[in-house]
Amino acid sequence: MRFQDISHEGPARVLKRPISMGGRKPLASGALVLPSEAPLGSRLRRKSTRTTAPRLTLASTERPPEETALERSLVDQLPAGRGIHLRLTDNRYTMVMVRRGVKEYRVRLHRMFAAAEPRLIRSLARYIVHNDQRASAVIGAFIDRNQHTIRQQPQRPRKVVLRTAGLVHDLKKVFDRLNQEYFEGSLEARITWGPAPRRTRPRRSIKMGSFAVEDRIIRIHPLLDDTKVPEYFVAWVCFHEMLHGKHGVEKRGNRRCFHSKAFIEEEKTFRDYHRACAWEQENRNRLLGG
Ligand SMILES: [Zn+2]
Repeated sequence: MRFQDISHEGPARVLKRPISMGGRKPLASGALVLPSEAPLGSRLRRKSTRTTAPRLTLASTERPPEETALERSLVDQLPAGRGIHLRLTDNRYTMVMVRRGVKEYRVRLHRMFAAAEPRLIRSLARYIVHNDQRASAVIGAFIDRNQHTIRQQPQRPRKVVLRTAGLVHDLKKVFDRLNQEYFEGSLEARITWGPAPRRTRPRRSIKMGSFAVEDRIIRIHPLLDDTKVPEYFVAWVCFHEMLHGKHGVEKRGNRRCFHSKAFIEEEKTFRDYHRACAWEQENRNRLLGG
Protein backbone atom coordinates (compact mmCIF):
# COMPACT_ATOMS: atom_id res chain seq x y z
CA MET A 1 0.00 0.00 0.00
CA ARG A 2 1.18 3.44 -0.85
CA PHE A 3 0.29 6.40 1.18
CA GLN A 4 -0.52 9.01 -1.32
CA ASP A 5 -0.10 12.12 0.73
CA ILE A 6 3.48 12.11 1.75
CA SER A 7 5.52 9.83 -0.35
CA HIS A 8 8.51 8.53 1.46
CA GLU A 9 8.14 9.81 4.90
CA GLY A 10 7.96 7.42 7.74
CA PRO A 11 7.34 7.63 11.41
CA ALA A 12 10.24 8.09 13.70
CA ARG A 13 10.83 7.72 17.35
CA VAL A 14 12.19 10.94 18.69
CA LEU A 15 13.47 11.47 22.15
CA LYS A 16 13.08 15.09 23.03
CA ARG A 17 14.60 17.24 25.63
CA PRO A 18 11.83 18.94 27.55
CA ILE A 19 11.69 22.58 26.55
CA SER A 20 12.04 24.79 29.56
CA MET A 21 10.13 28.01 29.44
CA GLY A 22 11.35 30.57 31.89
CA GLY A 23 8.81 33.21 32.75
CA ARG A 24 7.00 34.66 29.79
CA LYS A 25 9.94 34.43 27.47
CA PRO A 26 8.89 33.36 24.03
CA LEU A 27 9.59 29.81 23.07
CA ALA A 28 13.19 29.38 22.23
CA SER A 29 14.12 27.81 18.95
CA GLY A 30 13.38 24.48 20.58
CA ALA A 31 9.92 24.85 19.18
CA LEU A 32 11.43 24.36 15.78
CA VAL A 33 11.86 20.68 16.44
CA LEU A 34 8.49 19.47 15.43
CA PRO A 35 8.39 15.79 16.20
CA SER A 36 7.98 14.13 12.86
CA GLU A 37 5.25 11.95 14.29
CA ALA A 38 3.08 14.75 15.54
CA PRO A 39 -0.05 15.26 13.48
CA LEU A 40 0.93 18.84 12.86
CA GLY A 41 4.58 18.25 12.28
CA SER A 42 3.95 15.52 9.82
CA ARG A 43 2.52 17.93 7.36
CA LEU A 44 4.34 21.11 8.19
CA ARG A 45 7.63 19.39 8.29
CA ARG A 46 7.98 16.58 5.89
CA LYS A 47 11.04 15.03 7.32
CA SER A 48 12.46 12.52 4.99
CA THR A 49 14.22 9.52 6.31
CA ARG A 50 16.34 9.59 3.19
CA THR A 51 19.25 11.86 3.06
CA THR A 52 19.40 14.36 0.30
CA ALA A 53 22.48 16.17 -0.81
CA PRO A 54 22.76 19.56 0.76
CA ARG A 55 21.77 22.23 -1.66
CA LEU A 56 24.16 25.02 -2.27
CA THR A 57 22.61 28.35 -1.70
CA LEU A 58 24.30 31.38 -3.02
CA ALA A 59 23.98 34.47 -0.96
CA SER A 60 22.07 37.07 -2.85
CA THR A 61 21.35 40.62 -1.93
CA GLU A 62 18.38 40.76 -4.28
CA ARG A 63 15.36 39.32 -2.60
CA PRO A 64 12.46 38.17 -4.70
CA PRO A 65 9.62 40.71 -4.48
CA GLU A 66 7.06 38.09 -3.42
CA GLU A 67 9.26 37.28 -0.44
CA THR A 68 9.52 40.84 0.78
CA ALA A 69 5.81 41.40 0.12
CA LEU A 70 4.80 38.40 2.22
CA GLU A 71 7.25 39.40 4.92
CA ARG A 72 5.67 42.85 5.09
CA SER A 73 2.17 41.39 5.34
CA LEU A 74 3.29 39.14 8.17
CA VAL A 75 5.00 41.93 10.09
CA ASP A 76 1.67 43.73 10.28
CA GLN A 77 0.22 40.77 12.16
CA LEU A 78 3.01 40.40 14.70
CA PRO A 79 3.09 41.81 18.21
CA ALA A 80 4.75 45.22 18.35
CA GLY A 81 8.49 45.11 18.59
CA ARG A 82 8.89 41.65 17.09
CA GLY A 83 10.63 41.32 13.80
CA ILE A 84 10.58 38.60 11.21
CA HIS A 85 13.02 37.31 8.72
CA LEU A 86 11.33 35.35 5.99
CA ARG A 87 12.72 33.15 3.30
CA LEU A 88 10.74 31.37 0.64
CA THR A 89 12.14 28.01 -0.31
CA ASP A 90 11.68 25.16 -2.73
CA ASN A 91 12.28 22.64 -0.04
CA ARG A 92 10.45 19.43 -0.73
CA TYR A 93 10.13 18.29 2.84
CA THR A 94 9.89 21.27 5.07
CA MET A 95 6.94 23.45 4.19
CA VAL A 96 7.03 25.60 7.31
CA MET A 97 9.90 26.14 9.65
CA VAL A 98 9.82 28.62 12.50
CA ARG A 99 12.56 29.63 14.85
CA ARG A 100 11.24 31.73 17.63
CA GLY A 101 14.06 33.97 18.67
CA VAL A 102 13.92 36.55 21.40
CA LYS A 103 13.86 39.51 19.03
CA GLU A 104 12.72 38.06 15.78
CA TYR A 105 11.11 35.09 14.17
CA ARG A 106 13.12 33.35 11.53
CA VAL A 107 10.70 31.71 9.18
CA ARG A 108 11.16 29.56 6.13
CA LEU A 109 8.12 28.90 4.02
CA HIS A 110 7.67 26.95 0.86
CA ARG A 111 7.21 29.18 -2.17
CA MET A 112 3.57 28.07 -2.40
CA PHE A 113 2.84 30.55 0.39
CA ALA A 114 3.72 33.46 -1.87
CA ALA A 115 0.12 33.29 -3.07
CA ALA A 116 -1.30 33.37 0.45
CA GLU A 117 -4.51 35.27 0.92
CA PRO A 118 -5.16 37.51 3.93
CA ARG A 119 -6.89 34.79 5.91
CA LEU A 120 -3.98 32.42 5.43
CA ILE A 121 -1.53 35.16 6.32
CA ARG A 122 -3.37 35.68 9.59
CA SER A 123 -3.17 31.95 10.26
CA LEU A 124 0.53 31.95 9.46
CA ALA A 125 1.09 34.80 11.91
CA ARG A 126 -0.89 32.99 14.61
CA TYR A 127 1.12 29.87 13.99
CA ILE A 128 4.42 31.73 14.03
CA VAL A 129 3.66 33.60 17.24
CA HIS A 130 1.55 31.16 19.23
CA ASN A 131 2.09 27.80 17.56
CA ASP A 132 -1.70 27.91 17.31
CA GLN A 133 -3.46 24.58 16.64
CA ARG A 134 -6.32 25.90 14.58
CA ALA A 135 -3.97 27.99 12.51
CA SER A 136 -1.85 24.93 11.83
CA ALA A 137 -4.92 23.05 10.64
CA VAL A 138 -5.64 25.85 8.15
CA ILE A 139 -2.03 25.83 7.00
CA GLY A 140 -2.03 22.05 6.74
CA ALA A 141 -5.11 22.12 4.52
CA PHE A 142 -3.47 24.74 2.32
CA ILE A 143 -0.38 22.56 1.95
CA ASP A 144 -2.56 19.61 1.03
CA ARG A 145 -4.30 21.61 -1.67
CA ASN A 146 -0.97 22.74 -3.07
CA GLN A 147 0.91 19.46 -3.07
CA HIS A 148 1.27 19.71 -6.82
CA THR A 149 3.46 22.78 -6.50
CA ILE A 150 6.13 20.89 -4.62
CA ARG A 151 8.77 20.24 -7.15
CA GLN A 152 9.28 16.55 -7.54
CA GLN A 153 12.65 15.32 -8.47
CA PRO A 154 12.76 12.00 -10.22
CA GLN A 155 13.52 9.38 -7.64
CA ARG A 156 16.48 7.31 -8.53
CA PRO A 157 16.18 3.93 -6.93
CA ARG A 158 18.78 4.09 -4.26
CA LYS A 159 20.94 1.25 -3.34
CA VAL A 160 20.72 0.93 0.38
CA VAL A 161 23.66 -0.45 2.25
CA LEU A 162 22.50 -2.20 5.36
CA ARG A 163 24.76 -2.37 8.35
CA THR A 164 23.36 -4.63 11.02
CA ALA A 165 26.46 -5.61 12.99
CA GLY A 166 27.40 -2.88 15.36
CA LEU A 167 30.36 -2.79 17.70
CA VAL A 168 28.16 -3.91 20.57
CA HIS A 169 24.70 -4.83 19.32
CA ASP A 170 23.77 -6.95 16.35
CA LEU A 171 20.55 -5.58 14.90
CA LYS A 172 19.88 -8.60 12.73
CA LYS A 173 19.97 -10.83 15.76
CA VAL A 174 17.66 -8.51 17.66
CA PHE A 175 15.27 -8.18 14.71
CA ASP A 176 15.08 -11.90 14.03
CA ARG A 177 14.45 -12.71 17.66
CA LEU A 178 11.67 -10.13 17.93
CA ASN A 179 10.18 -11.29 14.65
CA GLN A 180 9.93 -14.85 15.98
CA GLU A 181 8.71 -13.87 19.39
CA TYR A 182 6.09 -11.28 18.48
CA PHE A 183 5.29 -11.54 14.77
CA GLU A 184 5.49 -15.28 14.07
CA GLY A 185 8.39 -14.51 11.79
CA SER A 186 6.08 -12.75 9.37
CA LEU A 187 7.24 -9.14 9.61
CA GLU A 188 8.93 -8.02 6.45
CA ALA A 189 11.33 -5.18 6.89
CA ARG A 190 14.99 -4.47 6.70
CA ILE A 191 17.02 -3.01 9.48
CA THR A 192 20.24 -1.06 9.72
CA TRP A 193 22.18 1.25 11.91
CA GLY A 194 21.56 4.79 10.76
CA PRO A 195 24.27 7.08 9.47
CA ALA A 196 26.71 8.60 11.92
CA PRO A 197 25.25 11.77 13.37
CA ARG A 198 26.40 15.02 11.89
CA ARG A 199 25.54 17.03 14.92
CA THR A 200 27.64 17.41 17.96
CA ARG A 201 26.19 16.88 21.34
CA PRO A 202 24.37 18.04 23.38
CA ARG A 203 21.27 17.90 21.27
CA ARG A 204 17.68 18.87 21.79
CA SER A 205 16.31 15.63 20.50
CA ILE A 206 17.47 12.36 19.16
CA LYS A 207 15.68 10.21 16.65
CA MET A 208 16.32 6.80 18.15
CA GLY A 209 14.59 4.86 15.44
CA SER A 210 12.62 5.35 12.27
CA PHE A 211 10.60 3.31 9.85
CA ALA A 212 10.65 4.32 6.21
CA VAL A 213 7.23 3.48 4.86
CA GLU A 214 8.20 3.16 1.22
CA ASP A 215 11.14 0.82 1.38
CA ARG A 216 10.35 -0.66 4.78
CA ILE A 217 13.69 0.06 6.31
CA ILE A 218 14.15 0.44 10.02
CA ARG A 219 16.99 2.68 11.02
CA ILE A 220 18.37 2.68 14.52
CA HIS A 221 20.47 5.56 15.80
CA PRO A 222 24.13 4.51 16.05
CA LEU A 223 24.35 6.17 19.46
CA LEU A 224 22.53 3.12 20.82
CA ASP A 225 25.40 0.90 19.76
CA ASP A 226 27.13 1.33 23.06
CA THR A 227 28.03 -0.98 25.94
CA LYS A 228 26.14 1.40 28.24
CA VAL A 229 22.91 0.75 26.35
CA PRO A 230 21.32 -2.56 27.37
CA GLU A 231 20.19 -4.86 24.61
CA TYR A 232 16.60 -4.82 25.86
CA PHE A 233 16.53 -1.11 25.18
CA VAL A 234 17.82 -1.52 21.64
CA ALA A 235 15.22 -4.26 21.21
CA TRP A 236 12.58 -1.92 22.55
CA VAL A 237 13.36 0.73 19.93
CA CYS A 238 13.43 -1.96 17.22
CA PHE A 239 10.13 -3.39 18.43
CA HIS A 240 8.48 0.00 18.21
CA GLU A 241 9.63 0.45 14.61
CA MET A 242 8.57 -3.10 13.75
CA LEU A 243 5.10 -2.28 15.01
CA HIS A 244 5.02 0.53 12.46
CA GLY A 245 5.68 -2.10 9.83
CA LYS A 246 2.75 -4.10 11.10
CA HIS A 247 0.23 -1.33 11.76
CA GLY A 248 0.89 1.03 8.87
CA VAL A 249 -0.56 4.49 9.01
CA GLU A 250 -4.13 5.16 9.95
CA LYS A 251 -5.80 8.11 8.33
CA ARG A 252 -8.16 10.10 10.46
CA GLY A 253 -9.61 12.73 8.23
CA ASN A 254 -6.74 14.98 7.39
CA ARG A 255 -4.49 13.59 10.01
CA ARG A 256 -2.25 10.64 9.85
CA CYS A 257 -2.06 8.57 12.94
CA PHE A 258 1.09 6.55 13.41
CA HIS A 259 0.35 5.39 16.92
CA SER A 260 -3.18 4.08 16.91
CA LYS A 261 -4.81 2.68 20.03
CA ALA A 262 -4.08 -0.83 18.83
CA PHE A 263 -0.45 0.13 18.24
CA ILE A 264 -0.05 1.48 21.74
CA GLU A 265 -1.75 -1.53 23.27
CA GLU A 266 0.48 -3.91 21.41
CA GLU A 267 3.54 -1.95 22.38
CA LYS A 268 2.78 -2.82 26.00
CA THR A 269 3.12 -6.51 25.27
CA PHE A 270 6.87 -6.06 24.97
CA ARG A 271 8.47 -8.25 27.60
CA ASP A 272 10.74 -5.52 28.93
CA TYR A 273 8.25 -2.68 28.49
CA HIS A 274 8.53 -1.25 32.00
CA ARG A 275 12.26 -1.82 32.23
CA ALA A 276 12.82 -0.11 28.89
CA CYS A 277 10.64 2.88 29.76
CA ALA A 278 12.43 3.26 33.06
CA TRP A 279 15.84 3.04 31.41
CA GLU A 280 14.83 5.70 28.91
CA GLN A 281 13.71 7.99 31.71
CA GLU A 282 16.89 7.53 33.67
CA ASN A 283 19.21 7.90 30.72
CA ARG A 284 17.44 10.61 28.76
CA ASN A 285 20.01 13.24 29.54
CA ARG A 286 22.93 10.98 28.82
CA LEU A 287 21.50 10.01 25.45
CA LEU A 288 21.04 13.65 24.62
CA GLY A 289 24.55 14.37 25.74
CA GLY A 290 23.55 16.79 28.48
ZN1 LIG B 1 6.60 5.67 16.29
